Amino acid sequence: MILQVAIDTPLRQVFDYLPPSAQAQDLPPLGVRVLVPFGRQRLIGILVGIVAESAVPAAKLKSALEFMDESPVYDPVTFELLRWAAEYYHHPIGEVYAAALPVSLRDGQPVSASIELWSLTEAGSEELARPSSRRAPQQRALLSWLAERSSATTAQVTEIFKRAHLKTLEARGWAVPNLSHSTGLGLADDLGTVEVHPGGLALTGAQSQAVETILAALSAFSVHLLYGVTGSGKTEVYLQVIAAALAQGGQALVLVPEIALTPQLVDRFRRRFSGGVAVVHSGLTDSERRDAWRAAHSGRARIIIGTRSAVFTSMPKLALIVVDEEHDASYKQHEGFRYSARDLSVMRARGAGVPVILGSATPSLETLENAAGGRYAKHILPQRPGAAQPPRMSLVDLRRHAADQGLSTPAMQAIDQHLKAGGQVIVFLNRRGYAPSLFCNSCSWVAPCAHCDARMTLHRRALKLRCHHCGAQAPVPTICASCGQALLPVGQGTERVEETLMRLFPDAPLARLDRDTASARGAIQSVLERVHSGDARILVGTQMLTKGHHFPEVTLVVILDADQGLFASDFRATERLAQTITQVAGRAGREARPGEVMIQTQFPEHPLLQRLIAEGYESFAASALEERREAGWPPYSRLALLRAEAKDSAGLDSYLRAAAALGHVLNDSAAKESASKESAAKDGAVKILGPAAALIARRADHFRAHLLIETTVRSSLQRFLARWLPQVEALAGPKGLRWSIDVDPLEVD
Ligand SMILES: [Zn+2]
Ligand SMILES: [Zn+2]
Repeated sequence: MILQVAIDTPLRQVFDYLPPSAQAQDLPPLGVRVLVPFGRQRLIGILVGIVAESAVPAAKLKSALEFMDESPVYDPVTFELLRWAAEYYHHPIGEVYAAALPVSLRDGQPVSASIELWSLTEAGSEELARPSSRRAPQQRALLSWLAERSSATTAQVTEIFKRAHLKTLEARGWAVPNLSHSTGLGLADDLGTVEVHPGGLALTGAQSQAVETILAALSAFSVHLLYGVTGSGKTEVYLQVIAAALAQGGQALVLVPEIALTPQLVDRFRRRFSGGVAVVHSGLTDSERRDAWRAAHSGRARIIIGTRSAVFTSMPKLALIVVDEEHDASYKQHEGFRYSARDLSVMRARGAGVPVILGSATPSLETLENAAGGRYAKHILPQRPGAAQPPRMSLVDLRRHAADQGLSTPAMQAIDQHLKAGGQVIVFLNRRGYAPSLFCNSCSWVAPCAHCDARMTLHRRALKLRCHHCGAQAPVPTICASCGQALLPVGQGTERVEETLMRLFPDAPLARLDRDTASARGAIQSVLERVHSGDARILVGTQMLTKGHHFPEVTLVVILDADQGLFASDFRATERLAQTITQVAGRAGREARPGEVMIQTQFPEHPLLQRLIAEGYESFAASALEERREAGWPPYSRLALLRAEAKDSAGLDSYLRAAAALGHVLNDSAAKESASKESAAKDGAVKILGPAAALIARRADHFRAHLLIETTVRSSLQRFLARWLPQVEALAGPKGLRWSIDVDPLEVD
């Protein structure tokens, strides 16, 4: 017997071993961890196959050292999903299996462990009963939180409270940790019980129809597009379907674009289902991640809410998947293992035989096309009765109206009016920093990044020039490097818009939300809190504003620059612009007050903007799909992008030309084969386009270029890549060459 082991290395292969001599008789199931010798190291891999023979000569085969588990560390569906994903995305299988596990489990920590369950002591209850003193409100809050439940894990406590407060309670004898042995796979202990609290909202007809249809399909694979504007009640549909899935003993997986930006959603889940909700995101420490993973794997956690990588969480009783804001670009990983969590959710649901709900106010064109073709069921949720009317949208022609630092007169007047009427205002600009360039009026010199074909962005508060492409920083020059004259900041970033608004509306407190203000832990929450409490009257921000916040008092949204997306080279740029405009507009006038949206543009007659404003997102999407069909872009074609970068630009170019030539040879032989079978028409020819330079042709001192692989048939793309990539891998390239393959890229760049 030969063991096939997936090891976390960049090599696209599995490694063969003999079973450990002591354990040779009794082989565990696939999916367990196994310790193996690897060169001079000992590494932990995943057992992914057991075969009779190896291509490695018997004398060279080594024995594995030890099996580390008796049962698999993945549920069976996820185990197969990972194998499928490694093949589909053509990524090294060992890295794919490793990516699905918390680091401590990759390092060999046990799958189950005893966990601490905190509960109040008698002294703690007495302390709580004492008349409240003003001292230590956090400790009191923790006391009463613990009093409300019989016990809580350390992870549950520290998600809400500081660890230090828990330790203080312990030191004072008010709370004690009891050790409880976490049970193994499938045996839910008492922590797994979930209390479902009835929802506050009665369902509309459309909501209950969606709930009923999905519930009727609960024990089989199906995909449901839940298409509803912000405020139409998508979350309530998720909650009710999840409650039913839980009632049947199942687990539910809920994917969201970004946890920090959607605290309201997580709160709603916690309020509805006390106990059994685990949250997984990139801000967790590895031990928090491991605890959540263990809770999911053991069945103790019944609902997992997480970002992209949570799609791989081991959930043996998975009964339902929800992908909220399914159009969001963050579901695609942009480096390393370039998977789409949205697409893998659909594959996982298929494997598990359960429904998946894709929710959005602005579904991706792919999803709309799948719904139009009948592959996905489509449920439309109209605006809830009693909710605010959709906001009034208008275009401001920047050619006719003078702008003060990017703000046109009509926009300024509208801001003034809405503030005077007591409303809040959102100003959206998808560009952070103070000004996107520093310009010399006398010789036209522009501060460049020394390492990229890009300009440096001025960050005035930090007094730095920063490159948004490579992260390089430089001091702000006082005079032109070329002619010695004074320099001017040109164009607007959020920092400069903030400054302008503070000057124009000195009495309106302002908050800014972008990557610069949100970098500190907890900073996002405090900005959101200032808007909710009404303390901030104006909110300036980037893309981060578009993600599902509920701001009931916002009555005006100003989009400063719609033109960034109108003429971008990427085929998805207009789709993204329409989604952004629609999503930002959805923040306005959500309750009692009617909303207004103003879009500033140099091109008010542009058909995309006209259509979006006059007829809405769905009408825009229909015409955008028509354009894609004519141009042969996805979803009417299948793409893969071979990206490469190197310091030697000529070497990079000849490498990509050689790779393309190998592809053309494969294509010719495939064409001959299929001609002989007379199936050429059905087979979908593969086109190899390029090499083409990337939009930023040099970044961080590396030249960047790509080859685009395009076909109409998914299987022929897969067949081509499977034959071509090993040849590309064997090809010699310039020194320091890095390359990657991106199947279903979001951007062709
Ligand atoms: Zn100059
Ligand atoms: Zn740079």
